[in-house]
Amino acid sequence: MRADLIQLVYLVAAVCFILGLKWLSSPRSARRGNQVAAIGMAIAIVATLVDRSVIDYTWIIAAALVGGSVGAVIARRVQMTAMPQLVALLNGLGGGAAALIAVSEYHAHGALGETSLGGVAAVSVMFSAIVGSISFAGSLVAFGKLQEILPGRPITWPGQKVLNALVAVAILALAVWAALAVDDPILWIAVVLALILGTAVVLPIGGADMPVVIAFLNACTGLAAAATGFALGNVLLIIAGMLVGASGTLLTQLMSKAMNRSLASVLFGAFGGGNAGGGSSAASGEALPVLEIGTADLAAQLVYARRVVIVPGYGLAVAQAQHPVRELADLLGARGVDVTFAIHPVAGRMPGHMNVLLAEADVPYDKLLEMEEANPDFPQTDVVLVIGANDVVNPAARDDPSSPLHGMPILEVDRAEHVVVFKRSMASGFAGVENLLFHDPKTRMLFGDARKSLTQLVQDVQDV
Ligand code: NDP
Repeated sequence: MRADLIQLVYLVAAVCFILGLKWLSSPRSARRGNQVAAIGMAIAIVATLVDRSVIDYTWIIAAALVGGSVGAVIARRVQMTAMPQLVALLNGLGGGAAALIAVSEYHAHGALGETSLGGVAAVSVMFSAIVGSISFAGSLVAFGKLQEILPGRPITWPGQKVLNALVAVAILALAVWAALAVDDPILWIAVVLALILGTAVVLPIGGADMPVVIAFLNACTGLAAAATGFALGNVLLIIAGMLVGASGTLLTQLMSKAMNRSLASVLFGAFGGGNAGGGSSAASGEALPVLEIGTADLAAQLVYARRVVIVPGYGLAVAQAQHPVRELADLLGARGVDVTFAIHPVAGRMPGHMNVLLAEADVPYDKLLEMEEANPDFPQTDVVLVIGANDVVNPAARDDPSSPLHGMPILEVDRAEHVVVFKRSMASGFAGVENLLFHDPKTRMLFGDARKSLTQLVQDVQDV
């Protein structure tokens, strides 16, 4: 009876997860989606805790208190700009947890034939222990790169791919061995090798490819959790793991498409981050002209424009300039200027970064245009304001086959009549690639912190 009730409650939790995911797919309903998914998770935890197979609550309560408090403090304190690191870290912990449960299941029940672990469970345990460990180590490296504890550029060494392949084969052999024999140390060796492999696979991946990597590791964690669900015979864990696995896989595909990179070239290509050249002037060391503009002149130009498009990027998030940019859009809108925001799918440092940021400042959703919608209209745009964005508007991605960014779809702001770029210096963006847009005769640079520049610009627009 109790078991049936628990299954029923699990079903309710699963429905919450599915509805949560559905609502998370639009900024308009995302808050609701998050709340419903959190309620589903709370229901799932309570149902699991009243499950008969829990014999002692002491450690569970202690761990929940410590983990819950740390999580709550981090979630409250984290800056918007550090959100991708947090996602990487949480994803890694999910993978690590799945791996630990798998190892303890193996320890408790033994291997194939010897004790109660059947064929499916043995395969699930191995899968979960290994993929979970790879995801844990890989996510920690991704965290280190995004947090700049580790260098963002690709870290490579000779024979890397061959060594990785050998380690992968060794892991596979050890997993088969561990599944057939009852021998904890063999599984532990496989787990340690999986940790090494996770680290070795992500270290050579450059910062610019991190969105794809995080989505991919997220899919791995989901699959590892689903495998743990099979091993434990826990339906909800299977469903939740599959949902994470499927959404992570779809996100990996979307992110790869947005950067025009195949998953294989991301995982094995050693691209991005560092000081990748790109652009002939960088190579020849020529000093190209740069034209500047002040906020007063820009204010006058904007007020008389018909159509203005704002392109937000990572720098907007760093400067926390979402509120002044909304004010600017409102002011111009009130004067009859058509103002929209063009959002590149990988602008910022995580999927949906710009949407979340602008939603926080109450920018209406119908003002946000996706790349495909925005690009055809740039030729009819009077002024484009590129605010703290760089790689996502770099024309080299379209025009320069030698550029490491080549092939990545961009917001084609250089087709507009005028472009104004808000940034602090001539420094390159996350991919470390020079941007010739800044030297285009139609471009003006507005140097300074985006928040300060925008606050002044708002003032100047009011004075025009
Ligand atoms: P970029 O990192 O290319 O450029 C950001 C620009 O913002 C920099 O050139 C910097 O220039 C400027 N900036 C930084 N701080 C400020 C500030 N306070 N005020 C004004 N400007 C500032 O950002 P994009 O959004 O254009 O591109 C995103 C990049 O990140 C892509 O390469 C993408 O692949 C990668 N990425 C994306 C992820 C995602 O999921 N969306 C995840 C991880 C990486 P300066 O220092 O001169 O001010």
